[in-house]
Amino acid sequence: MNSTVPAYNSPELLYADTDFSKLNWLEKNWAAWYIWIGNPIIATGLMSFLLHEIVYFGRCVPWIIIDAIPYFRRWKLQPNKVPTALEQWECTKQVLFSHFTIELPAIWLFHPMAESIGMTTWQVPFPSWKTMAPQIAFFFVFEDMFHYFAHQALHTGALYKHIHKIHHKYSAPFGLAAEYAHPAEVFILGTGTIAGPLLYCYFTRNLHIFTVYIWITLRLFQAIDAHSGYDFPWSLQHIVPFWSGADHHDFHHMAFVNNYSTSFRWLDYLLGTDDKYRAYKKRTAAAKAELKKKNASQEELKAMEEKLAAEAEREGLIAEAEVENYDKKKA
Ligand SMILES: [Zn+2]
Ligand SMILES: [Zn+2]
Repeated sequence: MNSTVPAYNSPELLYADTDFSKLNWLEKNWAAWYIWIGNPIIATGLMSFLLHEIVYFGRCVPWIIIDAIPYFRRWKLQPNKVPTALEQWECTKQVLFSHFTIELPAIWLFHPMAESIGMTTWQVPFPSWKTMAPQIAFFFVFEDMFHYFAHQALHTGALYKHIHKIHHKYSAPFGLAAEYAHPAEVFILGTGTIAGPLLYCYFTRNLHIFTVYIWITLRLFQAIDAHSGYDFPWSLQHIVPFWSGADHHDFHHMAFVNNYSTSFRWLDYLLGTDDKYRAYKKRTAAAKAELKKKNASQEELKAMEEKLAAEAEREGLIAEAEVENYDKKKA
C-alpha cells in the first residue's frame, strides 16, 4: 500500500504504514482528524481557518478584559485613549468580514499550493523541536524584513490614501485592531507571513504544516500584542531588547511616522526609521526625571506624558495629511 497517495475514499489508508503506538497525544488526534474529515484538502483548510479564528479572538479576549479594568491603565501607553465597547465591536465586525471574504479563500488555496511544493500535512509524527525551531526563526526574520519594506511602501501616496489609511484609523490601537485593514493590505502583508514557509519549503522540501501552524500562532500573538496598547514591566521587549512589542508599534499609530517593522527593532534602528521614536522616548524620560527631582505628583507626571504624546500626535497628523495630499502637491 502506498501511503503517500492521499486516499480520499478511504482515509485510513493514509496511515497504513504508521505505527500509532509510537505517536503522542497530539499526533494521534491529528491523524484522527484527517481520518474523520476524510479529505485532506478540506481537513487542512478547515483546521487552518479554525486555528486562525481561535488564536486571533482567543488572544484578544485577555486584552478586552484588561481594557475594562482601570487598574491596568497605569501601563497603558496612551492612558487617556481606552477603546469603548462599541469601537471594539465595530472593529470585530470588520475583522470578521475580512476573515470570511479574504482569508478563508486564501487559506483554502494554501493546501494545494503547499502540497505541490512538497509540504507535509496529514503525515505523523511531527518533526522534532530541533528541526522546527530554526525554521520558525527564519520565518520571523523573513516576515519582519518583508513587512518593513512593504509597510514603508504602504506609507506612500496612493497606497496610503486608498489602502493603509484604514489600519491607521486607530491612533491608540487595541488587540482587535491588529487585523483591522483594507483587504488589499491583508493580502500584501499576509504574504510576508506565508511566503517564508512557501519559499523555505520550495528550496528544502522539508517542512510540516504543523511547524507553519506554530509560526502562525506566534505571529498572531506578536501582532495582537503589538497592538494591545500596553507595555508591562514583564513585556517581552524588556527581556529581549531587540523585540519590538507594543511600545514600538503604538508609537507608529500615535505619531504616524517611524517603526515600520513587526517583530524586531533592528531594521528601523539600522535604517534610521526610529529616530523620532527614540527622541520621543528620550524626551519623555528626561521630563519624567526632571519632575521626579521636583517631587511632582502622579497627576503632574501624567499631564506631562499626555502633553508630549499630544505633541507627537499633532506632528503625526501633519505628516499624514502630507502623504494623503500627495496628488494635490503635484498639481
Ligand atoms: Zn502604518
Ligand atoms: Zn498597526
